[in-house]
Amino acid sequence: MHGLMMDRPLLVADILTYAEDMHRASGVVSSTVEGGRHYQSYPEMAARCRRLARALRALGLGPGDRVATLAWNGYRHMELYYGIPGIGAVCHTINPRLSGEQMGYIVNHAADRALFVDLTFVPLVEKLASQFPADLTYVILTDAAHMPDTSLANALCYEDLLAAQDDDFAWPDLEETTAAGLCYTSGTTGNPKGALYTHRSMVLHALMVGISMQGSMRPGQRVLPVVPLFHANAWGTAHAAPLTGATLVMPGPHLDGAAVFDLMHSERVCSAWGVPTVWLGLMQEIRSRGSIPQGFAEVVIGGSAAPTAMIADFEDRGVSVCHAWGMTEMSPIGTLGHLTPDYDDTPAAERLALKSKQGRRAFLVELKIVDEDGTALPHDGEAAGELFVRGPTIASAYYNDEAATAAAFDAEGWFGTGDVATICAQGFLSITDRAKDLIKSGGEWISSLDVENMAMAHGHVANCAVIAVPHPKWDERPVLIVVPSVDDPDPDSIRAHLAGHLAKWQLPDDILFVEALPLTATGKVSKLTLRRAYADHRLPQTD
Ligand code: AMP
Repeated sequence: MHGLMMDRPLLVADILTYAEDMHRASGVVSSTVEGGRHYQSYPEMAARCRRLARALRALGLGPGDRVATLAWNGYRHMELYYGIPGIGAVCHTINPRLSGEQMGYIVNHAADRALFVDLTFVPLVEKLASQFPADLTYVILTDAAHMPDTSLANALCYEDLLAAQDDDFAWPDLEETTAAGLCYTSGTTGNPKGALYTHRSMVLHALMVGISMQGSMRPGQRVLPVVPLFHANAWGTAHAAPLTGATLVMPGPHLDGAAVFDLMHSERVCSAWGVPTVWLGLMQEIRSRGSIPQGFAEVVIGGSAAPTAMIADFEDRGVSVCHAWGMTEMSPIGTLGHLTPDYDDTPAAERLALKSKQGRRAFLVELKIVDEDGTALPHDGEAAGELFVRGPTIASAYYNDEAATAAAFDAEGWFGTGDVATICAQGFLSITDRAKDLIKSGGEWISSLDVENMAMAHGHVANCAVIAVPHPKWDERPVLIVVPSVDDPDPDSIRAHLAGHLAKWQLPDDILFVEALPLTATGKVSKLTLRRAYADHRLPQTD
């Protein structure tokens, strides 16, 4: 028997019109590419999105067309986030940190029809234009006064396009399963793979983030996504903030510790979201200034494991840490690390240990861990297995990529994350490693994340990575590669520090010092590059 409720679609434009009607005093603050700060309320943004929708149609763009963006976090990028899917087209966010080769692959694989590009990236696009479709329409995200002299064929000016339209536009009814967004994951192997979000998945994800983050996602609060709009929907902030009435504060291209501190301080940001690398920079700034930015109450750390030392540092300064885990393919939120009031009386050390885990599943996300045969393992905090996920905000396939799709899903349609995890009885997920990045020594797992976490707590370590190096007896042994924070780092002292926390067989066989670690396009340490670079490394014991 079917129920008798209205079958109205869940659409991205509904978030915008709700913000316009209900959250009139909130909006988007942007540190701009051209310089200076820009303020826009949600009603102002909604009106500009309607102009944009008309402009897109005037360019001949319509339902199903892929419209790409190559832009920092800012108000114009937000307008594209709503205007493009609003007319039934697909907002394809491109990560500017990808290699030129990968970008060429992505634009052609997606068959993009237009590319909206920030001033910063115009020279990059000029270099790559010969690899892009010949009929690609280029729109530069600036006003007439800042239009650059460019070799891009028939490049258009964004503000001129909007100025030529009025805002008399009604968002069309679409099916909720219509594609709304497209984001390629950088991947550490092979070609990038596209996650193709629907209007329904976007709205459900926004609701999920909104209810999970009630402390900061509400009117009167200001949220700073340092995590980019070009990577996994800025973790849902771009949709959850207008939905809940929080104001977004956008950093533009200014991502160093000092700039982030100044923006947060002057705009009274309460909640800031980003990867650990960003917080290393901010923490340095906090230490040198001797205080946290005014109003700073919460930091969401994800994308890579948040080091325990970093969590402790923030919490000691009164900033509550929410350690989150997710994936591009999951819209991206999977788990969040808030501690409920049940843990108020938990001893501080135990609370810190819990916060170092990746959190508990968000509403609509199901988790299972399985052994090598695909058999489900218990959620006892001990059994570690590959993590699979299922839910309406999770990709059901990769866009136009049968091989990658076939490799990623199990027979029941669960998505294999490639992460290895335990889940405890209270539901805390703990990522112990990545399936593709595992160290198996003498048949026993060593968690590179654990060793990295420990090493990060040593004063001589600014950043580090643990990789597996082939070993004749044990198959693989861990090597710790360190970016030192001092001029004369002492490997013996780091070894002694680790020995205090790890079993002897888990200790790295070698500690190497480097100036910098290679990064993937999303700013994570590229273990693949490191493993290749050190594939022939001779371990001291082997000699
Ligand atoms: P991406 O799709 O680029 O966001 O990458 C997702 C992957 O990043 C996950 O599968 C994990 O391997 C890793 N990741 C994300 N968040 C965390 C976290 N909090 N701790 C450890 N690894 C993480």
